[in-house]
Amino acid sequence: MFFSIRWRLVITYVIIILLTMSSISTYVLDLLEEYSFDQEEIELLTRANIIANITSEYVKNKNKNIIEQIVNALEIDKSIRAVVTDTEANVLFDTARTGNYTGKVFVKEEIVEALAGKEDVKRRYEDEAGWFMNAAVPITKEGELVGVVYLSTSVQQISDFLEEIKRSLITISFIVSIMIGLLSAGLATAISAPVEKLTGVIKNMADGNLSQQVKVNGNDEIAQLGMAFNRMSERLSEQEEKRRQFVSNASHELKTPLSSIKILAESLLQTDNMDISIVREFLSDINGQIDRLSRITNKLLKLTKMDISENQIEMSEINVTALINEICTSLSPLANKKDINLVLNLEDDVRLLADEDKIWESIFNILDNSIKYTSPNGQVKIALETDVNGIYITIKDNGIGMPQTEANKIFDRFYRIDKARARETGGTGLGLAIALSAVQLHGGDITVESMEGKGSTFRIYLPYEIV
Ligand code: ADP
Repeated sequence: MFFSIRWRLVITYVIIILLTMSSISTYVLDLLEEYSFDQEEIELLTRANIIANITSEYVKNKNKNIIEQIVNALEIDKSIRAVVTDTEANVLFDTARTGNYTGKVFVKEEIVEALAGKEDVKRRYEDEAGWFMNAAVPITKEGELVGVVYLSTSVQQISDFLEEIKRSLITISFIVSIMIGLLSAGLATAISAPVEKLTGVIKNMADGNLSQQVKVNGNDEIAQLGMAFNRMSERLSEQEEKRRQFVSNASHELKTPLSSIKILAESLLQTDNMDISIVREFLSDINGQIDRLSRITNKLLKLTKMDISENQIEMSEINVTALINEICTSLSPLANKKDINLVLNLEDDVRLLADEDKIWESIFNILDNSIKYTSPNGQVKIALETDVNGIYITIKDNGIGMPQTEANKIFDRFYRIDKARARETGGTGLGLAIALSAVQLHGGDITVESMEGKGSTFRIYLPYEIV
């Protein structure tokens, strides 16, 4: 659970906020602490130095009364304890009401330091009384050490104030972290919920239900992901439907000649003393069906190869004008048989970088159809033109034509308008599918315009450059 995007986002945000708040708090507290204690330290040392300067002569003489008068006259804050000692740490004067050290030896680290000639300030925690700041400065008279002034004051109030600020900062940090945590959880849910939904739908798809759609809201990155998924799912369903249709059509097309062969062969086997002329006729029919089977399988193989070898077209510079002339020559016996007039209007020496076999196959299939589906004495016109983008081959017949609604379907595999008639003409319904695949491999397209009873016009476009 903690590895989900939602939790990772929440934890990351909360850690960032906690780190930021704790660094800011530490910095602010350090600054406040330094400022407050520095002020107190300067004040104590200044007072101690004033006392040391004024009392030096009387400390040297150990004149306790004058020292007391001077210190009292200075009106030092009541909260500050002032102690004046001689060089032996014997207390000459002490303002303390309880635990007064006057006449006794007062040993403190700060006093020892001052007796060694150095000013010293320390903060100490004293049981029950709390935090204190102690300062000691040496008293000198004409360069000679004569005693020490020691001042001590409570800084517990400052410590309490800093402690209060620290507690407030910790509370604020926790409240802010909880708020950021809740906000980021909301944000993370808004991001991860659609992703989780999409994952569920993709799992469904992986289980075989290809037609899956997700609900899309808005136009952000997640919505675009949803839209892309919906498009992909639609395309996959279409492809799957086409594949199913193709397999069912292919099995049907292969089954028809196989059934005829089976029936003819069984008749031959079951009938005794069959007339030789009938036997020949049956065998010739079987032969015809075998030819048909091999035509279908050859074309299927060609289509399958084109499906899988998209990147394996063998490009070379071809002369399209010469290629069309060759195709017309090879189809002229068929045209002559039906007295169909082939009219050529070709630009000279049109060259193109293309796979010659595939382009040959495309033009051949379309021209072959135009002759096949045009009545005797008809006409088929072939034109070749060019422009800056590529070349255009137009094949126009005045044959049987077709309704425009059929024109969109004739490039589908195994699609034939009149199945019985097409079978008579040896059609498989694969010729135009092969032609279109070949042209599309070159980045081109084939369009058709047709009118029933008037004829059809096929236009092949092949670009100079495949984009
Ligand atoms: P077939 O092998 O059956 O000709 P095609 O894929 O080449 O298969 O053509 C598909 C169908 O398109 C044909 O069965 C025919 O009905 C129709 N067709 C193709 N070319 C023409 C045309 N020039 N005139 C009329 N119909 C055509």
